Amino acid sequence: MDKEQLREEINRLKEKHQVTIVAHFYQRDEVFEMADYSGDSLQLAQMAKDDPNPYLIFCGVGFMGESVKILSPQKRVLMPKIACCAMARMIDKPYYNENVEILEKSGVKKEDILPITYINSSAEVKAEVGKMGGMVCTSSNAKKIIEKGLESGKKILFVPDKQLGQNVALMMGLKSCVIGEDCDPKEADIICYNGFCSVHQLFELSDIEFYRKKFPGILIVSHPECPPEVCQASDFVGSTSQIIKYIKDLPLDQKVAVGTEFNLVNRLRKKNTYILSSTKPECPTMNETTLEDLYNTLKAIDEDKIITEISVDPEVEKWAKVALERMFEF
Ligand code: SF4
Repeated sequence: MDKEQLREEINRLKEKHQVTIVAHFYQRDEVFEMADYSGDSLQLAQMAKDDPNPYLIFCGVGFMGESVKILSPQKRVLMPKIACCAMARMIDKPYYNENVEILEKSGVKKEDILPITYINSSAEVKAEVGKMGGMVCTSSNAKKIIEKGLESGKKILFVPDKQLGQNVALMMGLKSCVIGEDCDPKEADIICYNGFCSVHQLFELSDIEFYRKKFPGILIVSHPECPPEVCQASDFVGSTSQIIKYIKDLPLDQKVAVGTEFNLVNRLRKKNTYILSSTKPECPTMNETTLEDLYNTLKAIDEDKIITEISVDPEVEKWAKVALERMFEF
């Protein structure tokens, strides 16, 4: 089948089986264009909750499909590719508990730690955080959630993204350190796990210098998963949805260089928009899903041969939901 036939079949099967398709902003265009809803991980989980269809096909990475399933357990959530975010893969339950033990050995008691996990983590890690009284955050609400967490008087253990943890600490004038990197946890307000996004860590200060020299007056926009020195030198730092809004509100002749995933930047606007890198910052796992995969997932529903359905262990689901719902409370 050519692409046009694939699109027609996708639309036909979607109607026939009452399927909603959602796609993250970083998906390739051919998949993104087929979505009923698009957004960042939090927006998609919220939209899915209110969606009436029994089937939901989630085009994104594994932790996003899991979050949707945890918040809407009555739904059948399918993913064309169960691709795993590189950052989420950097931490699992044993690593999480090992890091809590490291803090205890450094003189920070477990009862004095409030864990916060970025939504880019497995359900298993969210559940461990939930059991310790902690919560989930996203890049758009991380500052608010950390502020809330600090009201407990405890130290924050922030997993898995050290860049986001450090960026929020800098924004709030707090002390942070990264476990394994010359860190005295007793001195820090936010103690970060040593994880990162393999795409956003590639943006460099030299990229900003290059664009400022080439186009005086250009605005620099970055995602808080970028290194702290890049965020500090940017004119605007925000989550994917905040970046989209910021750029939409700019005058069309305002030049802007953006430090986030290629597919999103490429779609923002045709003119005066540049990728803040000399390489192509493409998320390999987000790009795994193709139009053909999407069609195959619908065909599997049609033939009653589903194989890529998301399921979460009930005990993990219970505690991960607690951590997710604490975030929604705030
Ligand atoms: Fe994970 Fe980074 Fe890809 Fe987002 S861009 S899914 S954080 S690896």
